Amino acid sequence: MSQTKRLFLILGDQLDLQSAALKDFNPQFDEILMVESARESDYVWTHKAKIALFLSAMRHFAQALRDLSYPLTYIKESPLSIVEAVKAHLLQKKISHLVCIEPGEWRLKVAIEGLSAELNLQLDMREDDHFFCTHQEFSAWTEGKKELRLEYFYRLMRKTHNILIDAEGNPEGGQWNFDQDNRKPYPKKGPGIIDKPLSFTHDAITKEVLEYIGKAYVEHPGSLDAFDWPVTREQALEALDYFVEYRLRNFGVYQDAMWTDTPFGWHSILSSSMNLKLLNPREVVDAVLIAWKKYSLDLSTVEGFIRQILGWREFVRGMYYLDMPQMAKDNHYKHTNKLPDWYWTGKTDMACMKDAIGQTLQYGYAHHIQRLMVTGNFALLAEVLPSEVCDWYLAIYVDAIEWVAGMALFANGGRFTSKPYIASGAYIKRMSNYCNDCKYKPDIRFGESACPVTTLYWNFLIKHQNQFEASPRTR
Ligand code: SF4
Repeated sequence: MSQTKRLFLILGDQLDLQSAALKDFNPQFDEILMVESARESDYVWTHKAKIALFLSAMRHFAQALRDLSYPLTYIKESPLSIVEAVKAHLLQKKISHLVCIEPGEWRLKVAIEGLSAELNLQLDMREDDHFFCTHQEFSAWTEGKKELRLEYFYRLMRKTHNILIDAEGNPEGGQWNFDQDNRKPYPKKGPGIIDKPLSFTHDAITKEVLEYIGKAYVEHPGSLDAFDWPVTREQALEALDYFVEYRLRNFGVYQDAMWTDTPFGWHSILSSSMNLKLLNPREVVDAVLIAWKKYSLDLSTVEGFIRQILGWREFVRGMYYLDMPQMAKDNHYKHTNKLPDWYWTGKTDMACMKDAIGQTLQYGYAHHIQRLMVTGNFALLAEVLPSEVCDWYLAIYVDAIEWVAGMALFANGGRFTSKPYIASGAYIKRMSNYCNDCKYKPDIRFGESACPVTTLYWNFLIKHQNQFEASPRTR
């Protein structure tokens, strides 16, 4: 064990007692620092519920550390940035050895490395083990490849981790992908009864946080009225158990479906718990595999869910660390428009955008198709500057860490998606009931009742006709 005093920094999205953050911690010499920084909530205009979730989860984690007698300094509501607060603490305590997990956000990683150089620290930045794929493995996979595609990465992950692989080494059910079974809209009469996600009573810590955010961040977007996110590991585990028992069975088939006032559908809404590291994705995948057998669930729903965790989540995160900092500047189509103001209020006549943004302001959540094919699709078709859209995603969704927000806008050209994700109003009409009560008509392209999504879609196709003709997937 080290005999030099070390400072272990734990960030707000690194809340796991079992992680590499605390490996080899020596309570005799070492100490832990956690910082609530107001700047983290201001550098993008963060949703109140997201700030509340981070603070409540951090304070509960701090309580768990104290209960285990870890020596902890917890700085509440600091006006400093995280790095400034760490610097002040290191100087005050005369500590020159800093241990941390690699931050999920590039800017913070660079800032901590900068601090280390400035103070001549001994920096021990450890890889985050809450992902199946390490940076080294991801980077090795990309070597020599002209095109980086989710499907091949996902197959490799399935084989490497022996997930949904049969005794002969083939994919369970004879195919890798059950997307065709997983793209159904709700029945014409609506989704019917959906088992609601698990609810949590607010304890004293959460109540205090909600009261504080309600006063200190009054101008920030979003509401706290419906705040109901897991804020401890115990709650996150309960939410996982509940999901696999009651909600997973219909996740697959309806994962792309949308319906007015149906904010969660059959989705797990476990992403915020995984991204705060209250849950490890390995235990989420294991729970789903056990439920598959226990409740005789369809393979298509299980594969559809595992693809999101083992495939997309790992792939987008791998690409983020591979391509940053360039990724943040990418703007393939050279779009320059401002994000419409109504992205922050939901005040628009477009029923699809109103519902997707309205529920986002209420809960800090929308599911992947609402993000990709409603708000993301519109922003791309309306030629909005990609960094403005990324900042909006980062600000408004409780589960968004910068690496999560990368795929909607085709901002890096064909680097990791073979085509832009675009759709006309016809897709939204097929996958939802939004168009039924909309002022616009999804199949009309011109005139007063033309659907803006459809008009912009055709505008986009015409503008980029050459690109679409050149690719076999879009020709
Ligand atoms: Fe959205 Fe167009 Fe449908 Fe209205 S008609 S809900 S704008 S897709």
